[in-house]
Amino acid sequence: MLEELKRHADVLENVSLNKYNTYHIGGLTKYMVSPLSINDLIETIKILDKNKIPYFILGNGSNVVLSSKKYEGAIIRLNNMAGIAIHPEMNMVYAEAGVMFPKLVMDTVDKGLTGLEFAAGIPGTIGGSVYGNAGAYNSCIMDYIDSISVLNRETYEIEEIEHEDIEYSYRNTMFKGEHKYIILSAKFFLKSGEKSSSIAILEDRKRRRLESQPLEFPSAGSVFRNPEGDFAGRLIEACNLKGTAIGGAEVSEKHANFIINKNNATSEDVYELINLVHDTVLEKTTVDLIIEQEFIGWD
Ligand SMILES: Cc1cc2nc3c(=O)[nH]c(=O)nc-3n(C[C@H](O)[C@H](O)[C@H](O)COP(=O)(O)OP(=O)(O)OC[C@H]3O[C@@H](n4cnc5c(N)ncnc54)[C@H](O)[C@@H]3O)c2cc1C
Repeated sequence: MLEELKRHADVLENVSLNKYNTYHIGGLTKYMVSPLSINDLIETIKILDKNKIPYFILGNGSNVVLSSKKYEGAIIRLNNMAGIAIHPEMNMVYAEAGVMFPKLVMDTVDKGLTGLEFAAGIPGTIGGSVYGNAGAYNSCIMDYIDSISVLNRETYEIEEIEHEDIEYSYRNTMFKGEHKYIILSAKFFLKSGEKSSSIAILEDRKRRRLESQPLEFPSAGSVFRNPEGDFAGRLIEACNLKGTAIGGAEVSEKHANFIINKNNATSEDVYELINLVHDTVLEKTTVDLIIEQEFIGWD
């Protein structure tokens, strides 16, 4: 099986997931698989299915809470599928799922296209960002998507989904939780703009993030979605949870909706602290916060 797999992908065995997620937590995976192209991805999942090996698609691991239990399957990363094509004359951009969002932002700004500046500080891939409808500053990725290309995990067919057929809302899409599709690429529709104005927006957003977010520590960004008309961070702060720690994980003093890996936190530290924050906010304010990050491998 391994020899066959290696014809289509870079394959590593018994890899620690620690450096493949932005919390820097998590246990081993039996296989770490990076298919060489879209066709190789299709072959890869056919081989895994034939051998009854479960698999999970990981982007940059910036929105997941990985368990410390060994994953007895294959973590698939799309890092070899990171092509970008920019057509400024048509305001169109094509990006494969493995492209890092900040790289796409810089490339489009460089070509005089505007729209994606909001995402310069989102350290995820295009695949992960489409999956969760990543956004910031009242914009989200779906505002700029023309269509996406996905691989149906059951039929192995590639399907094109037009913008109007994608169901999404704030930090949520039809892809979330279901894992029926692998997002392969996205087409964006942008506007032509002034490069200097885009750079001014980028600088402003960077300053605001540096001022408000604990970027000096590993984290996975906001833990909870903002409830309608309120902010998760405000509620957590109002419950006096800033600075609360379990093991090496801590509720950030700088931004209450961030949990940081302050001192060699384990997966369990992060997991328990998220639950403590959730339950305390529920008890004290009756608001049932919805987690934005995804627990992977905890069942
Ligand atoms: C410092 C910091 C700041 C952040 N700021 C923001 C912010 O402003 N706004 C925001 O929305 N988020 C923010 N995030 C969270 C995170 O960066 C985004 O949610 C990002 O879009 C996740 O992408 P990823 O590639 O890391 O996904 P991962 O965390 O790797 O995966 C998340 C989910 O997406 C699925 N997935 C990944 N790729 C694919 C694919 N190709 N096909 C199908 N499913 C896939 C995974 O299976 C998993 O279920 C921040 C995180 C950090 C650490």
